Amino acid sequence: MPGKPASPTRQLSSLPLDSLKGVGPGLKQRLATLHLNNVQDLLFHLPLRYQDRTRIALIGRVLLGQDVMLEGEVVSCDIEFGRRRSLVCRIKDGSGLLSLRFFHFSAAQKNMLATGAKLRCFGEIRPGKTGFEIYHPEYQIIKAGESLAVSDRLTPVYPATEGLQQTRLRNLIDQALALVTGDSLREWIPQQVLAQAIRQTRWPNLSQALAYLHHPPADAPVQQLLEGVHPAQQRLAFEELLSHRLCLRRLRKQSAMQQSPGMHAPAHYRTQFLQQLPFKLTGAQQKVSDEIREDLEQRRPMLRLLQGDVGSGKTVVAALAALQAVDNHFQAAIMAPTELLAEQHYLNFCQWLQPLGLKIGWLSGKVKGRQRREALATIAEGSARIVIGTHALFQDDVVFQNLGLVIIDEQHRFGVHQRLALREKGNSQHTQPHQLVMTATPIPRTLAMSAYADLDVSVINELPPGRTPVNTLIIANTRRAEVITRIHAACQSGSQAYWVCTLIEESEALECQAAEVTWQALQAQLPDLKVGLIHGRMKPAEKAAVMSDFKQGALHLLVATTVIEVGVDVPNASLMIIENPERLGLAQLHQLRGRVGRGAKASHCLLLYQSPLSQAGKLRLGIMRDSNDGFYIAEQDLALRGPGQVLGTRQTGLMSFRIADLVRDADLLDPVRSAADYIEQSYPLHVDPLVDRWLGGRELYGNV
Ligand code: ADP
Ligand code: MG
Repeated sequence: MPGKPASPTRQLSSLPLDSLKGVGPGLKQRLATLHLNNVQDLLFHLPLRYQDRTRIALIGRVLLGQDVMLEGEVVSCDIEFGRRRSLVCRIKDGSGLLSLRFFHFSAAQKNMLATGAKLRCFGEIRPGKTGFEIYHPEYQIIKAGESLAVSDRLTPVYPATEGLQQTRLRNLIDQALALVTGDSLREWIPQQVLAQAIRQTRWPNLSQALAYLHHPPADAPVQQLLEGVHPAQQRLAFEELLSHRLCLRRLRKQSAMQQSPGMHAPAHYRTQFLQQLPFKLTGAQQKVSDEIREDLEQRRPMLRLLQGDVGSGKTVVAALAALQAVDNHFQAAIMAPTELLAEQHYLNFCQWLQPLGLKIGWLSGKVKGRQRREALATIAEGSARIVIGTHALFQDDVVFQNLGLVIIDEQHRFGVHQRLALREKGNSQHTQPHQLVMTATPIPRTLAMSAYADLDVSVINELPPGRTPVNTLIIANTRRAEVITRIHAACQSGSQAYWVCTLIEESEALECQAAEVTWQALQAQLPDLKVGLIHGRMKPAEKAAVMSDFKQGALHLLVATTVIEVGVDVPNASLMIIENPERLGLAQLHQLRGRVGRGAKASHCLLLYQSPLSQAGKLRLGIMRDSNDGFYIAEQDLALRGPGQVLGTRQTGLMSFRIADLVRDADLLDPVRSAADYIEQSYPLHVDPLVDRWLGGRELYGNV
């Protein structure tokens, strides 16, 4: 079996979705948004969690937040007129009473739920006006004399999307499971590799693992499954980590076959720049600059990740690298994930380099029409030596004269594909620009090695001198009035402040709405201050205008959503209020807090939490109060939050996995490394199918 690329039986990976019953063009499209493009993809679409429909719960015993299946008799069913009209159906089962509440309902529905009717329902227990309630339960009426069977397996709940119901997904995945045979779903990992990786626990084989996870038996260890440590999950996690590693190594190898320009001419601009810089490089900046300089001198493409805490001064290091390219008559491109951040860089670079007579190009999505044509022309003819911009830089019509270096800031916001696209802009077929990727995301070194197996890593582990650490305070929301007085005093004495509204239920729209409400309230409460607002739904031009007002001191207070998380640099801002900090991960809080403490003034960060705060919340915010060190905070976060939540892609933008977790599965990393080496050596034909299975068409890194 091993070694043969094609098997006579049709592989499920080449079986189209419309070979399944009930899949038409519309459904196919919706499945595609979940990256489900063939039958094998369905099998690897794994449940997020499970519902227990294997037994009927007693109303008297249910707990808040539980998903339960109940059976009961209707005792009343009435329309309630409140702020929102709803249909409230009370049911009893001998152990207690509970209400089912419907905000959308029909007359027919009300008639069916008549007093005396028996029904079975399923839903989540919530606190309601009448005590425990279930909103919009799934339900069915039990006819007289009828008894409904219970499921003998746990019910999977899948990641879904608009217009795609769980029942539909379950049905399709069941159809896919029925097609699994030893031949249609190949084990691409050789037996001896698996045997070596496992050591103690026994892992099921691939098809057993999938069958189990889609339909665990009623007595399955649910907690273990939720934590992702069941042997069936570990088996898949191993394969997923392996595929990622193989993919990164493949990227690296492809790159090693390319050439890049060696850059080692006399350093004219570099020297001038260093001479006019108002400060001296820190030891750490010097060290990583040397590493980068040596890389750039090689004809082998540089692929380097520069990690450095917020405020550690990565931009200067980027500028030095760019100037080495310019000194060698190459262009450098600097790409940032947001308009705001890109513009920030643009202004910095102009200030630093225009005095040296260098022309800096600018390209973003909002540059249109004639302006855009002109920008493209300066890039193509090479008069723009350094070009700064957003995603707009790697669109097809952007042609560089001779691009020698690509610098990407805040890597985690870009996918590998985008990185590749910019790399393609090198000047000829077999050469590609050097790449420098910068991130402020502190990840412990062992994890970094796995997460960025395709990159060399440099770390700036020192802040510029003279920074006063930000003083962080934890304050209950009940003391809001005091906080507002404090803002007033700070702004009166010439400082500026941020007020950050945090994410509400993962919805950007709601977050922006909340920021607007807060902005209005603060304007009313602080009538003699100029209060600005910035959030992700504003037009780029509006955002830029607000940001520039704030930078120039025309605004005292800036109400913002977490869009200001990365890169914003206003040294005069020395006070930050973060509302509901308990909702954010520590890494993100640390990023936010990094927006203050950039000037000489002592800075303060007030964590305005929603009281009461849980014990875990207290501990977490305590870490923020006690430390300003991003790496320390990341480690503590890891220890406190436990696996699974720590490196969520939204948090840190690390690679997004479907089942594996770099922290939880850290002990798999070593075996994965040796397995990857072995497969590359002895089973090279297995690499592509493995990578396709887990990563086909997906972004390798989380896209925030
Ligand atoms: P980050 O690593 O978060 O991107 P920046 O590059 O924006 O940090 O630098 C933060 C601030 O520190 C900037 O205002 C920058 O000019 C300043 N800075 C950088 N390096 C030094 C240094 N060696 N000495 C003093 N200030 C520095
Ligand atoms: Mg930066």
